[in-house]
Amino acid sequence: MEHITVYGAPWCPDCRRSKAFLTEQRIPFRWVDIDADASGRAFVEDLQGGGRTIPTIIFPDGTHLLEPSNAELAARLGLQLRASRSSYDLLVMGGGPAGLSAAIYAAREGLDALILERGALGGQAGATEQIDNYPGFPEGIRGQELADRLVAHARRYGVEMVSGADVTGIRRDEGEAAVYVETAAGDIYSAPVALVATGSRYRRLGVPGEEGLTGLGVHYCATCDGPFYRGAGEVVVIGGGNSALEEAVFLATLAEHVTILVRTEVRASELVADKVRNHPRITVRTGVEMDGFGAVNGRLGAVLAHERVTGAALRIEAPAAFVFVGLDPNTQFLRGAVDLDERGFVRTDDRYRASLDGVFAAGDVRAGSAKQVGSAAGEGIAALLQIRHWLADRHERPMPRVDEG
Ligand code: NAP
Repeated sequence: MEHITVYGAPWCPDCRRSKAFLTEQRIPFRWVDIDADASGRAFVEDLQGGGRTIPTIIFPDGTHLLEPSNAELAARLGLQLRASRSSYDLLVMGGGPAGLSAAIYAAREGLDALILERGALGGQAGATEQIDNYPGFPEGIRGQELADRLVAHARRYGVEMVSGADVTGIRRDEGEAAVYVETAAGDIYSAPVALVATGSRYRRLGVPGEEGLTGLGVHYCATCDGPFYRGAGEVVVIGGGNSALEEAVFLATLAEHVTILVRTEVRASELVADKVRNHPRITVRTGVEMDGFGAVNGRLGAVLAHERVTGAALRIEAPAAFVFVGLDPNTQFLRGAVDLDERGFVRTDDRYRASLDGVFAAGDVRAGSAKQVGSAAGEGIAALLQIRHWLADRHERPMPRVDEG
């Protein structure tokens, strides 16, 4: 497939913004650093009659945009950033397996659901290279394919889905019959009931060099960014859970060698731990504490750490490091409106109800959820069944038709 090409430089904030937007929307692109690539620089100057505005973004049909805003980029890519109406039967925040499954069930019940998704539909599952434990797929399934299937299923039932809609606030005023949510673009949507299914994202380490080198060698998504390091001699993975080990196995299909740095000890399922242990091109180093990331020419040059027991410094030269050190919930917009646990996950009762009337939560974002793709889809469905009861109790809807067993 022909890719979009982004010409830019490491020091350019608008280049970073455009790259982050494309990555978030899971749109593959080729990056040309015009500081390091003279032919790339000449191409940009030729195109602009000597000018050097970056990012310069070239599309597969040969057209280009210079320094576009995210909205311009979204419009050029045909992304829907705004819903067709402002009022629905159900607002679903988050277009991952939980939100999509809930919306499919809602649509089958005749509920008019709107999905608001900040990034690309499919959620974290869509950014996972291979999912081997989703029941019914004995050979495993690529995360992107599972995501595409869920989206196609929702589309078949006419669910309206908006990607690139970042929800920034939610409220239900005393005595009001509707929940209102607001997006970063300033749009306000309302419905009698809302489901929070915004999932979680990979946590940052918070060590020196991490922020500045994010996207320039420090990454959080192996499926999205791993292919840039095809043929690299060494790639480092940080973390010792299922995510780190599974993504390391994928990265070992691209790079010649992968080193996994684990702070204490490996905490992954036996199956994947065995796969890593027996892998000829993966080395696991336990008891290693991260100190930071070192730059060379504006990109990652070395991973800096030390051994916890001996204190011995460790420096691994590598063009890429992938960080998988747990999950942070996407609940910033709920702070002050909905009860969250100490780590920021949404507290619910056993009927998936959050503390704000008319707001439910399901999937990875919910405190106590299993953080599995299968259970997220299941929770989306279970929450939707509770939403139907809730609506029926308020005489907003007739009682449910389907069997619940
Ligand atoms: P996780 O299981 O919570 O593991 C986090 C890892 O990051 C641990 O090894 C932890 O080390 C390390 N860590 C945390 N803070 C760190 C720091 N500051 N510096 C260095 N290391 C640090 O996270 P996860 O792998 O992202 O998985 C999240 C959830 O999703 C889990 O429930 C997991 O089971 C699930 N999941 C399941 C699958 C699957 O079923 N196939 C796949 C992916 C994820 P310490 O132990 O030293 O704290």
